Amino acid sequence: MIIKKKYFKLNKMIPFLDLRAPHQELRDDLEKAFHEVLDSGWFTQGSQLEAFEKEYADYCNVENCVGVGNGLDALNLILRAYDIGDGDEVIVPSNTYIATWLAVTHAGATPVPVEPDELTYNIDPKKIEASITKKTKAIMPVHLYGQPADMDEINAIARKYSIKVIEDDAQSQGALYKGRPTGCLGDAAGHSFYPGKNLGALGDGGAITTNDKELAEKLRMLRSYGSRIKYSHEIQGFNSRLDDLQAAFLRVKLRKLNEWNSRRKAIAKRYLECLKNPNITLPFVPPWADPVWHLFVIQSDDRDTFKKLLDDGGISTLIHYPIPPHLQKAYQGLGYTLGNFPVSEKMAKGCLSLPIGPHLNNSDVSHVISVCCS
Ligand SMILES: *Cc1c(COP(=O)(O)O)cnc(C)c1O
Repeated sequence: MIIKKKYFKLNKMIPFLDLRAPHQELRDDLEKAFHEVLDSGWFTQGSQLEAFEKEYADYCNVENCVGVGNGLDALNLILRAYDIGDGDEVIVPSNTYIATWLAVTHAGATPVPVEPDELTYNIDPKKIEASITKKTKAIMPVHLYGQPADMDEINAIARKYSIKVIEDDAQSQGALYKGRPTGCLGDAAGHSFYPGKNLGALGDGGAITTNDKELAEKLRMLRSYGSRIKYSHEIQGFNSRLDDLQAAFLRVKLRKLNEWNSRRKAIAKRYLECLKNPNITLPFVPPWADPVWHLFVIQSDDRDTFKKLLDDGGISTLIHYPIPPHLQKAYQGLGYTLGNFPVSEKMAKGCLSLPIGPHLNNSDVSHVISVCCS
């Protein structure tokens, strides 16, 4: 152990994330895409965006895709397009990245947190109904860490109360639920192409996928000044567009997404088979889920000690997420305190994300396993 520690301190840490190495594999195609856009002289709402929207809609098995500026805007604009805002409530997971909540509050609505299932980390459908009121307009499940939420159960509740289901698909591009891709499992889905996501741009980007044609048309207006025809403004829109340059890069990367997701799955498979340590709990995959492992999150009662062990062994880890949204200063106005969402609070204390992604080779993975089991 001592020798190993020295070796890795002197050499390199296994990085949690490395966006450089995998992009080198695509260097020629990305450069070609850049030159195409440069030579076209057309940088927004052009043919690259249109082509990407078509290709990504096909990938998600939906009729419509609308490219926007980022994932937060995607979720926010969906709510606005459905006229969900002041006085309305939206059910959200209590253990998500803060963007899910921000989308709701930026629209003027109130997020109503529901606790996750302790095994899957995803919103627990059994707990949703108790939080529905006359004001509830939508449920916003998150396919957290790349694992699909239990959408049939969620959709059944939504149908019963005639409310919308809006998927937060920021972390799960390519994941399957009962054989169907995330992004086609609710009324609409918001996607993020932040560089670190499974399908990441070379900058910020986002999209909405939906089979609702009317919604898609309204979103096309909302993303571009409320305008369908230049200088004619039907609604008070925003400026949140997916650039043609990013769309061109995303087209290249979309062709690689399944391969990179497969590499993530192979690493996850090894972790699940080989990480035998009584002090850690491994993620649980329900039989109907085919996750894409945006993150590989374990739980430990003594997380900080375990994190230190990995750090000393040359392995970078991160915590997703250390503070649940209800305890963030940004949301102190909602009046929640410690103890209100104990499942999320426990996860925030115990969770640790191991390195996973196309940047890792077999010996990196073996090293992670050996240090975790030491
Ligand atoms: C990344 C993320 C978002 C927001 O995406 P951006 O493109 O960064 O705005 C929303 N929800 C979840 C769960 C995310 O992980």
